Amino acid sequence: MLVGMSAPTHVETLTPTGAADLVARLNATFATGRTKSTAWRKTQLRALRRLLVEQTDVFTAALHADLAKSATEAYTTEIASTINEIDHTLRHLDRWLRPRRASVPLGLRPARARTVREPLGTVLVIAPWNYPLQLALAPLVGAIAAGNTAVVKPSELAPATSAALAHWLPRTLDPQAVTVVEGAVPETTALLEQRFDHVFYTGNGKVGRVVMTAAARHLTPVTLELGGKSPAVVEPGADLATAARRIAWGKFMNAGQTCVAPDYVLAVGETSTALEQHLTTAIREMYGADPAGSADYGRIVDERHFDRLTGLLGDGRIVTGGDHDRATRYLAPTVLTDVDTDGPLMSEEIFGPVLPIIRVPDLDAAIDFITARDKPLALYAFTASAASKRRLASETSSGALSFGAPIVHLAVPGLPFGGVGESGLGHYHGEYSIDTFSHTKAVFDKPLLADPLRLAYPPFTTLKSRL
Ligand code: NAD
Repeated sequence: MLVGMSAPTHVETLTPTGAADLVARLNATFATGRTKSTAWRKTQLRALRRLLVEQTDVFTAALHADLAKSATEAYTTEIASTINEIDHTLRHLDRWLRPRRASVPLGLRPARARTVREPLGTVLVIAPWNYPLQLALAPLVGAIAAGNTAVVKPSELAPATSAALAHWLPRTLDPQAVTVVEGAVPETTALLEQRFDHVFYTGNGKVGRVVMTAAARHLTPVTLELGGKSPAVVEPGADLATAARRIAWGKFMNAGQTCVAPDYVLAVGETSTALEQHLTTAIREMYGADPAGSADYGRIVDERHFDRLTGLLGDGRIVTGGDHDRATRYLAPTVLTDVDTDGPLMSEEIFGPVLPIIRVPDLDAAIDFITARDKPLALYAFTASAASKRRLASETSSGALSFGAPIVHLAVPGLPFGGVGESGLGHYHGEYSIDTFSHTKAVFDKPLLADPLRLAYPPFTTLKSRL
């Protein structure tokens, strides 16, 4: 049991009837109107922030138990990032919720027009295992800030974090408005049979299709935060040592189990050999000669993923890494070259610490390689050329495009986070979360006094028809 948790959380399988009752209870809370008040929203967000500050040790221990995340990585990528999301939301919420005026065409005046953001109702947040805290809570921050009630379904593959959320959220937030349901496919299926007002899913595209199909039965809108193969293009002329360090950092964080990790490198021209050396050096600098002994290097979440990843090692020549141990689910930070571009390594998202380098002769070939595949969640490029940046921006499509650094674009509060095509549908973070979890309602208000609209009423005399 984790520090600070008084009793193990016992999970009953959620039946469809149980799920229906749960949603009915949350709908009843929503109907009282209390979640609509800005004061309620802020109180919940402040309580959530307090929880993260006061129980940092509990969540850090849970993340270590699930993924062997180091305390520093757990703090920066899960706890502090969620706190930042809360702070940014609290800072701007009043402004985001203010009605916005729209201009009224001359022929419809006098009148006023505005948009107001109204909460949707009860939303379902389904979270994955790789950042099991942040990816459950950051969508919840948006759902609460927009005035909704919510069910959070953490991933069963991160059981310690799931249990910590199930224990602490009801003790922290309004329990009649926010509920945690632990469990796996049966529980999620029971939930998905219910009519929610929005379903926010983070995970793989296969389950994304299951979620969207279930939501379609109720015409429920969905956000799908998916993954895919995010390339890192490296051009000659870029500082290759810095590029390699940043790629290694983004790739091997959380043992490569990051949706926006660089999936593979496209080494343009003659950059490959130097990159191989710089990556090898960077890995050694970050994790030592034997990364198995590094407290800063994570483990693969389960044996299924471990077997899948070690099965990919044969699709190329190992430049560095490749060591593995099934008992501890350790797979060393690995760089491969001379890869089979038609094999599984290059057809599926790797989602682990294996980094293939693919040589391409020029930027044209790199762009062709990218556009021939599914649209990635992120595209990274390391280049000194402004012309190359312009070409990549205009000739490729991806959830995000980042020059010079992987992953950190997520920490810019004003940027949306989401994919396009196979990498996802919709986006969130900051004000984009308010958009996702609200309906933007058009409000039109015309005084009943004067009636210039009579010009539009029949009968349509010759004079009127010329207007
Ligand atoms: P996962 O296995 O934890 O699944 C995600 C959620 O779906 C879990 O809550 C799980 O219980 C539920 N689920 C699984 N099978 C289901 C089914 N048949 N029916 C209903 N619900 C089901 O996580 P995962 O999918 O292995 O996560 C990894 C994927 O997620 C990768 O592709 C990664 O790129 C992507 N990802 C995307 C983001 C993002 O923000 N875009 C973030 C993290 C991960």
